[in-house]
Order: sequence, then structure tokens, then C-alpha cells
Amino acid sequence: AATQDPPYLAGLNAPQRDAVLTTEGPVLVLAGAGTGKTAALTARLAHLLWTRRAYPSEILAVTFTNKAAREMKERVGRLVGSAVEGMPWLGTFHAIGAKMLRRHAELVGLQSNFTILDTDDQLRLLKQLIQAAGLDEKRWPARQLGGLIDNWKNKGLTPADIDAGESEHYANGKGQALYAAYQERLRALNACDFGDLLLHVLSILKTHRDVLESYQQRFRYIMVDEYQDTNSVQYLWLRLLAQERKNICCVGDDDQSIYSWRGARVENILKFEKDFPGAKVIRLEQNYRSTPHILAAASGVIANNAGRLGKTLWTEHDSGEKVRVLGVWDGPEEARRVGEEIEGLQRGGASLDDVAILVRAQHQTREFEDRFIAIGLGYRIVGGFRFYERQEIRDALAYLRVVAQPADDLAFERIVNTPKRGLGDKALAKVHQLARADQVPLTTAAARILDTDELTPQARRALANLVADLARWRAAGDALPHPELARQILDESGYTAMWQADRTAEAAGRLENLNELVRAMEEYESLGAFLEHVSLVMDNEGAAEEPKVTIMTIHAAKGLEFDTVFLAGWEEGLFPSQRALDEGGLASLEEERRLAYVAITRARRQAIILHAANRRIYGQWTSSLPSRFIAELPREHVQEDSTMSGGESLWRANWSERADPFADVSRGTGRGPGWQRAAGVDMSKPGGGFTSRTFTREPARVLESRASAVSFGAKP
Ligand code: ATP
Ligand code: MG
Repeated sequence: AATQDPPYLAGLNAPQRDAVLTTEGPVLVLAGAGTGKTAALTARLAHLLWTRRAYPSEILAVTFTNKAAREMKERVGRLVGSAVEGMPWLGTFHAIGAKMLRRHAELVGLQSNFTILDTDDQLRLLKQLIQAAGLDEKRWPARQLGGLIDNWKNKGLTPADIDAGESEHYANGKGQALYAAYQERLRALNACDFGDLLLHVLSILKTHRDVLESYQQRFRYIMVDEYQDTNSVQYLWLRLLAQERKNICCVGDDDQSIYSWRGARVENILKFEKDFPGAKVIRLEQNYRSTPHILAAASGVIANNAGRLGKTLWTEHDSGEKVRVLGVWDGPEEARRVGEEIEGLQRGGASLDDVAILVRAQHQTREFEDRFIAIGLGYRIVGGFRFYERQEIRDALAYLRVVAQPADDLAFERIVNTPKRGLGDKALAKVHQLARADQVPLTTAAARILDTDELTPQARRALANLVADLARWRAAGDALPHPELARQILDESGYTAMWQADRTAEAAGRLENLNELVRAMEEYESLGAFLEHVSLVMDNEGAAEEPKVTIMTIHAAKGLEFDTVFLAGWEEGLFPSQRALDEGGLASLEEERRLAYVAITRARRQAIILHAANRRIYGQWTSSLPSRFIAELPREHVQEDSTMSGGESLWRANWSERADPFADVSRGTGRGPGWQRAAGVDMSKPGGGFTSRTFTREPARVLESRASAVSFGAKP
């Protein structure tokens, strides 16, 4: 039969085939990193299309990033040809949510051309509401309210679902009312935030049987990658859609659940079997990605977590090189060493595309960027400080948004006096007043106020010009290609001229960015499509040009793989993060450990872990302690390589030689306050703020016995 196998089955192992061929009924694939879950899901999609079990438009396939969606589309395209082109429901939860919401926007009081707000807009709006409620914005920051609202939305809760008690800790219970006011305001602006993309759709599905049934009919098959990181609203949404046909296949790994801070619930894995009785659970155990040393190192670390579902991993790969642990003096040396190592790899024939540097925190990238620029090493930042977040880009986008969507008040506010047109706060306050009185968007109010004598002649002239400009651009939009329109808007508004006249060092770069923005628009069929893309696409990296090293956070690296992976900054307070240590709970420490597991398992051939003895934190040098996760690496799979003097490297000394590493801290021997700060030790708590479970035993020895329980390199 093997000779007649369709192409997508070639090379799959038995359980993978099972996952592909079990098309009917609920299926849960639960397996460790690199075991081919995503590969199986992709083959499954190909299989459904190839055997004509469903049209492309009848399959709902959820990926974790837009990039993953693109890759899946490409892979399936290669396997089954053009059928994949019309896969409208392949994408992230947010992209799919946005698409559904546009089709039914009126059911939640929006128009289909609603704007998707980003965090910045969201915060400005919340700030206004907090002030309007007479609250002190300093005491009750918008960010905090935003976090609260996001949490509710992640749980699938509308303002009506929240009892007052739940918002007690924000402004004495005013959280719920502010949430309600915020939703009202969004509706008036014909806008929604990211959370709404799912929450609104969930509300629609719950309250409109006909809509729900039409989707239940449409989606013959549902598939979800990275299932361990779905949050409650996503789960409820999936469950509703799958309830009728029950052809849902989810793949995930509980050890890679790293988004609980965004409301992800690993328990959803357990709920799956309850909600879909008779679900077939498939386990994949052969790892195709990494060498035995890498696997053993990752397994050794994650073995320290309690409450895992547990799984076996093995590989047929040759053992390869041990995981290297590299101790360096400070941050700059870390960047220098990584640069040298990469140049060495290049000389050995490696492509920069196969190399990644993974960091725990966004700010860690800068040191590498500086170094790589200095030595001329090409790099890309993925998921980091993004192009579309730069000031000039946001301004330009605001212009485009007002033109595309006149009710977009936030965009109007951003551009009304940028560049400066002599529209003072007084004039703007009057426009606001009229907008509120007449219940119209600011653009409409701006036009109406010209018929009154409310404004000074100067403000009137300025506003009249802007109103006329906006009307002209809107009209021109029908005739002009949208990149052309954008260029015209930027020129005629005086925005480009504003940066041309600017004498600061950044101005040239900003003008380049504006040009790049117009270039980027050419890839989209309409202004609306482009704006949609901007709101959704967080991990866009343009077309591949020359090979580059990738620098990204561990979070952004989920699902990806590279030949060589540098894991930077494995120090207490950095990784595990200070916040996880401050919270002190086992749960946050375990999530950090899952991050370590994700990080190590991104490597195909070589993982190199770095830790610096000193870091500059807020301008001050602080000595730091190697991460506990380094000590948790099984010794026989690790090669130490310290550039520091002294025989035994620091981390062994720090972590393995004491039965209780904190005994001497409490006695106050040997370590200065800098170390305590870096290590996140809170002396006011018993046990120095750490949980006793992790530190009552000597880490290295415990791990050796655990690691030896797992066999590697041979098929069991
Ligand atoms: P993660 O948990 O990190 O998301 P995963 O389980 O999704 O990992 P994949 O990314 O699908 O794993 O696969 C890991 C690597 O193994 C990929 O390079 C993939 O092409 C390869 N692979 C998957 N299945 C097989 C197979 N049956 N034979 C050979 N290689 C395979
Ligand atoms: Mg995967």
C-alpha cells in the first residue's frame, strides 16, 4: 500500500498517520516538542482536501501566529496544489474572529468596517474614561484597568457577566462600570479591541442560533495547533462551533503552555476529553527535531515541574554535541561571544537563517543589535519593537484610518493637530462638545462647527482646511490606487514636510519609514485590507532576502526550530524573571520552567546557554547568579565553557555544593545585597521567598537520577 500513499503521508510514523486518517470524531494529539504535531496537522489538512472530504472553505484551522498560518498554507499548497488558495478560515484566533465579526458586526452594534484598536489607542480611551469618572489616573492607572478588562475578555465575560465584587480591587468596585462604559465608547467609535474579536463573536454565537448553526454546518472539520495555550474564550468558541459535527482535532503539549499571563488555561486539555466524550487521544513519542543531548537537557529541566501529564520522548538522531553552558563577564561580552560563535558557524558553512538567539525579555535584544550592527552581521527581530509601532507610522496610519473610517475618533484626535495647524485645546474642546451634544463622530462635528461662530478665525481656517482635505482624500480614494492616495495624503497634509523640516537625528529614518509604509501598502488590494493587516499582523517579516540571524523572545519562538540556538541571559532575576520570583508562587516558577523547555527544544543540533556574572540594571551594575535552570540540566549532557577565571565555573559552585542554597543567604555569608536583588530573594519571607519544593534538595543530584530514568538514542 505504501507505494500508493498520497504524498502527504510519506514518512509519517504510525501515530502521526492515525492523527491524519482519523478524520471523524474528536481527536486530541498530546505530545512533546518536535514530535511532528504541526507536521501531522498539516498533513491532516492536506488529507481532508485531497480526499475531498471538505471544500477549503469548510475547514477551520487555527494556528498560533500569522506566520504559522502562512507556513501551513504553503506546506499544504505544496502537498495538494491549488486547492489551498481559498482557505478563508485558516489563521490565528484573532484573524478568524475579525473575519467572522465583520460579517455579523451589526449584531453587536458595530458596522462591518469597524476599526481594531491597538494597545495605545485602548489606553488613551481608558484614560479618558477614568478621568471622566472623576478618578485619579495616577492612583488607578489605565494600564491596570486595561489588564483587568483583558482578563475578563479572555475569560469570555461581558460587563453583564461580572458581579461587582469581582472588580473590587480596582477603584473600589468601579471596574465593572468602567468596563461597561468602555464597551459603550468603543461601539460609538465603531471600534473594538483585540479581546472583542473573540468575545463579540462568542456573544453572537450564543445569542443567535441561526448564525451558530450556519457555522456549525459550514465547518465540517476543525483543527487547532498549540492547543495548550488557548484561553477560556477561545475554548468556549471552539466548543460551540464543534458541538454539532464534533470533528475537532487539537494538538498540543502541556509542557509548552507559556501564555497563562494572557489567560491561557492548560486545563483545557483535560476538559477536552470531558466535553468530547470518546475523544481519541494520540501520543507521539519520536522526536524528529533535536539531538539526544538537547532532548535530555530539556527533559531534565522540565522534570522539575509537578503536575505534568507526562510523556516519553526518544530520537534516532546521533547524539551530537552536548549543550554548552557559557559563563561570561557581562552583557557586552555575552553579545561579543555570541557574535564570534556565529561568525565561526558561518565560516563552517552554516546559514544565518538557521541560527537564532532567544531571550526572555524584549529589552535583551538591544545589546545583540548593537553588537551585530558593529560587526556587520545581518539580523532580524521577530515580534519585537515593530515597524507599525513607530511614531511616524502610527501618525500616518491615523490619517489613513480617518479617511477610511470617518467615525474613527481616536485617529482623528491623533492627526487633528499633527503637524501643528494652530488648533489649540480650546478649539478642540469645542469640537468635542459638539460631537457629544449631537452624538456624531468628531469629523462630522468638525464640519458642523464651521457653520457656527464658536471658533477664532485662525482655528476656523485651520479646521476648514483639514475638513476639506479629508473630504477630498475620501473622494480621491475611489479613483486613485491606495498607495498613491497615501502618498498624496502625507504630502498634502504637511506631514512629510514636518519631518523634512525636523533637525533631529531620527528624522531621516522616519522619512524612510514613511516611504517603506507606502511600499508595504502595494501588497494589498485595498486600503481596508491593508489596515486590517496592520491591526492583525504582529509577526510580519517581509519577504526573505539575504540570510539573517533571528533574535526573538522565547514566547515568539514557539513552534519554530533552528539548527543552532543561543539562549541568552540565563540568570536569576532575568530567567526566571524577577516578576516570577517576586510573585513567588510555584505556578509562575513552573511557567518559567516551561519556557526553558520551549527554549531548549527549539534547537535541532546545538543549544548554547549563556549567563553573565554582571548586568547593568537601571544604569547600575549588579552581580547576578546563574539561573537555577542551568543547575537543573543533567550534568552528563552539558559541557561547561566559562571565560571566567577559577577552576569550577560559577554555576556549579552556586547551585550544587550546598544542600540548601539559601541556608547561607539567611546566615548572611558571602553575598552582597546585589546578589540578593538579582536572585530575587525576599528576606522577609521564610525560605527567602522561594518555594521549598524546588530548593530543599540538592539540584544536580536530584536531576541525575531523574534523567537516567529516560532513555535516549535508541528505540525503546
Ligand atoms: P513543537 O511542539 O515545537 O510545536 P511539533 O510537535 O509541532 O513541535 P513539528 O514542528 O511538526 O513538531 O516537527 C518537528 C520537526 O520534525 C520538523 O522539522 C518536521 O519536519 C520533522 N518531522 C515531523 N514528522 C516527521 C516524520 N514523520 N519524519 C521525519 N521528520 C518529521
Ligand atoms: Mg508545532
